[in-house]
Amino acid sequence: MLIYDLDLQSLSNLLQEWNEPSYRAKQIWQGLYQHLYNSPEQFTNLPKSLREKLGEFVTFSPFKVKVYQDSSDGFTRKTLFELPDKNLIEAVLMRYSDPADNPQITASPTGRGAKNRRTLCISTQAGCAMGCVFCATGQMGFKRHLSSGEIIAQVMYYARMLQEEKQVVTNIVLMGMGEPFHNYDNTMAAIDRLNDSDGYNFGARRFTISTVGLVPAIRRFADEKRQVNLAISLHAADDEARVSMLPINKKYKIDEVLEACRYYVNQTGRRITFEWALIYGVNDSPEVARKLAARLKGLLCHVNAIPLNPTAGYQGKATDRGRAAAFKEALEQAGIPCTIRMRRGIDIQAGCGQLAGSVL
Ligand code: SAH
Ligand code: SF4
Repeated sequence: MLIYDLDLQSLSNLLQEWNEPSYRAKQIWQGLYQHLYNSPEQFTNLPKSLREKLGEFVTFSPFKVKVYQDSSDGFTRKTLFELPDKNLIEAVLMRYSDPADNPQITASPTGRGAKNRRTLCISTQAGCAMGCVFCATGQMGFKRHLSSGEIIAQVMYYARMLQEEKQVVTNIVLMGMGEPFHNYDNTMAAIDRLNDSDGYNFGARRFTISTVGLVPAIRRFADEKRQVNLAISLHAADDEARVSMLPINKKYKIDEVLEACRYYVNQTGRRITFEWALIYGVNDSPEVARKLAARLKGLLCHVNAIPLNPTAGYQGKATDRGRAAAFKEALEQAGIPCTIRMRRGIDIQAGCGQLAGSVL
């Protein structure tokens, strides 16, 4: 049993079964999420008998580190974890220093500029069923959903790593392997547990969920009125172009996705982010930008564009600086704010699923 799979109530129930006093649950909870303990011996405020029981019946790590890589600039760390069933998942830490040095990244995915951010990108599934053609994870297919505890454990792993440097994770993006809205319940359970103010206390507004556009889930998410940021992977301004990149567009057309986005903004009052992988000659022209702007008109949103990260299974190439700048300008002239994000950690295959792809 993975300890991070338990919410506080389940942990209390377990301890009750073990005939422990009820306050032990809180002690363990705080040990896990405030002190970041990951072995029973560290819980020195617990009796030895209970520590032994924890050692016997629960695990604190659901994976082992298969490979990790640091980018040459030292700002990005990518870790490939191997789960007990041999499936591989990835999580990437991106450190951003003072934006004055890096004007292109002043606008964060959450829309706020910030100094010295440490953004963690985590996975919600091993592989992905959505089959987006340019995505390394999509190219490998679906393996399985991650449990809430397996999602949380990625955060705890990096939190402990940063703790040694006296630093903390400042933002969490669900943009690693997998489609979070295809694994809705486990993803939300993980967010809720990490958000708990008696535990890790990670603010809801510092999470960003990215989805390929599963319309019913967007509506459900809107109805739940969470403070979590939402990003939609759009990548194309008409259905014909989008369906050739994102097969899910056969089921959920752009109009339906945007209708759900308008509903989300109405329900929550929150700005929505559209993600756009700029592919040379495919979706990086000013004409496409103007078409996109027309469709997004009146929607509280901005566009987060990033040059395509080339992958083995896709022919397309990344845009260049000039075309990216022209795309941004055309969008902004039409009233849609746009950020071009620098590619981070390109030398460590920090694109979604790329490290796992190369190891497999
Ligand atoms: N499944 C979710 C979240 C994971 S993918 C989603 O699709 O939104 C996170 C982001 O990376 C998405 O916007 C996705 O379209 C983008 N992405 C995937 N492969 C990419 C590549 N090779 N280059 C640039 N962006 C890519
Ligand atoms: Fe899945 Fe997102 Fe990759 Fe598409 S882009 S295959 S939805 S992980």
